[in-house]
Amino acid sequence: MKKRKKLYEGKAKIIYSTDDKNLVIQHFKDDATAFNNQKRATIEGKGILNNRISEHILSSLSEIGINNHLIKRLNMREQLVELVSIIPIEFVIRNIATGSLTKRLGIEEGTILDYPLIEYCLKNDKLGDPIISREHILNFKWLNTIELDLINEQCLRINDFLQGIFRGVGIKLVDFKVEFGKTKSNDKIILADEISPDTCRLWDHQTDKKLDKDRFRKNLGNVVESYQEIARRLGILHEQSNIRPIKFPKPIAVKIKKNK
Ligand code: ADP
Ligand code: UDP
Repeated sequence: MKKRKKLYEGKAKIIYSTDDKNLVIQHFKDDATAFNNQKRATIEGKGILNNRISEHILSSLSEIGINNHLIKRLNMREQLVELVSIIPIEFVIRNIATGSLTKRLGIEEGTILDYPLIEYCLKNDKLGDPIISREHILNFKWLNTIELDLINEQCLRINDFLQGIFRGVGIKLVDFKVEFGKTKSNDKIILADEISPDTCRLWDHQTDKKLDKDRFRKNLGNVVESYQEIARRLGILHEQSNIRPIKFPKPIAVKIKKNK
């Protein structure tokens, strides 16, 4: 599939057209931004890791019937995806209170929520992605009730499935953001964009160590190493890549008693 024109360049990815009007190439950059673009950096290798991790998650979601835009990964930084018209809403699903939820409502950091909480934010950088209600979505006709209910149901299924995947590798899925779009070909709603440590909060199960973009937001260091750790635990870091090698702990010396 030939890469054609750049259609859109965002903060973390670029979208290119292809020979097929219904397919586009999603290119993962190393750029990172936070706090509505106020903090910026380039994190070498991040795009490669997000490409792999998102491919792994979206292809696993396909296997349980969550339709999504991923056709296939093309190379280290690119995926062929179905072109959609993005619904201008960020769907945030939370299992543990942190980030903007704690600040906005004074909920204690780390509170385990009785059941998953879905929040909606308008996807508008100029307005700072403000939180909106179901009534805003319906009133301004961003979605109708049937579409919104379908997406809510999908968000909960995605959350259940991802919690299981991450729990299996010793990681808590604290919260995450997803985007949906309508396909150009038949207006069907499908999951789009990416699911990666850039869009999820992922904490080590035993230590609560942050293994996601909060390492960048909060200047905790070792951003790429944490993303590598996620990829390694998910079992997807086998291929040779130009990502810096993982540092393995030094081997422990073991004394072997010789039988005389
Ligand atoms: P942002 O736009 O917030 O800076 P990115 O840098 O991640 O975000 O840019 C990728 C853009 O591509 C996002 O705006 C996202 O909504 C959009 N997008 C993701 N998947 C698709 C798709 N399948 N078709 C069209 N646009 C998409
Ligand atoms: N998130 C995202 N993109 C955004 C805003 C949030 O991927 O533009 C993710 C974020 O990584 C976290 C979840 O959505 O996993 C909830 O984010 P929160 O509202 O707490 O964001 P904060 O304001 O703390 O960045």
